[in-house]
Amino acid sequence: MALLSLDNVSVTIGRLHPLDGISFDLDRKEILGIVGESGSGKSLTALSVMGLLPLIGGKVTKGAIVFDGIDLVSLPETDYRRLRGKRIALISQNPMTSLDPIIRIGAQIDQVSQLHLGLSAVAAQARSIELMQQLRIPDAATIHGNYPHQLSGGMKQRMVIAMALAADPDLIIADEPTTALDVTIQAQIIQIMVDLVRERGLALMLITHDMGVVAQACDRVVVLYAGRVAEQAGVADIFATPKHPYTRELIRCIPRHGQAPGSLKGIPGTVPSVMDYPSGCRFHPRCAHAQAICGTEVPLLEQKTSGRAACHLTEVLAHG
Ligand code: SF4
Repeated sequence: MALLSLDNVSVTIGRLHPLDGISFDLDRKEILGIVGESGSGKSLTALSVMGLLPLIGGKVTKGAIVFDGIDLVSLPETDYRRLRGKRIALISQNPMTSLDPIIRIGAQIDQVSQLHLGLSAVAAQARSIELMQQLRIPDAATIHGNYPHQLSGGMKQRMVIAMALAADPDLIIADEPTTALDVTIQAQIIQIMVDLVRERGLALMLITHDMGVVAQACDRVVVLYAGRVAEQAGVADIFATPKHPYTRELIRCIPRHGQAPGSLKGIPGTVPSVMDYPSGCRFHPRCAHAQAICGTEVPLLEQKTSGRAACHLTEVLAHG
């Protein structure tokens, strides 16, 4: 049984319907990429799993979210609080949303294992330093006593990862964890996360807009577009034979080594607003292959030769 399973999940916020029928599984020891442009529903998917939709006035109105046999949709908030931070940890894009600027960094990591694992202050400090060393933080004992402002952006993000790991979670949701960092540090941090998943047998949901990050880290990928799943497949398959035109466009937009500056063109058009989703296939106003049916009928997410895709013309395009 998958560690985390979303089955046909739909979300509403007031009168808006930003997520529509999201389904995927995530196993232990697996890294699942959730990819798409801003506005595709990636972060809302994370909030749905974390039970944090009420903070933005949202709720799951259809479908099931099951984590290790626990029905999360009907889980009372008091029980959810025991899961969050302990069994399901979140790494956000900006480390300063997770770190308190006036508390020494090590003490913040210590607090997590004291709270969730019941460790003494001495044991928690030893555990924090060990975690920091696993995250390849040099002179961890000294840095344990530093304040966040004394660290670089990359170092702060490693501390946030250490905090996420401190309670020994089963699932980590990392929401654009390296977007604010430069490319070299980004690659290092992603590699550290990959190594940790393999070593500790965690499951990682890695939310990103960057197919390059997906290629580096993920086992499987779910491509979201305007609140629906466009495609999902193993990473090798999705790069070798993308089935959905949107996936092809995302792959086309990965900068290539030696590419002339300014020669990379983005995907034409913009992601539609949740207040004005197009009828039929929501990608049709931007799709170079759109036919009349695309504007009127919603394509279902169907099994293909490899993975699943929601496009009326997958077979036609595969032979085109
Ligand atoms: Fe393009 Fe039509 Fe496929 Fe949508 S259903 S991706 S508009 S070809």
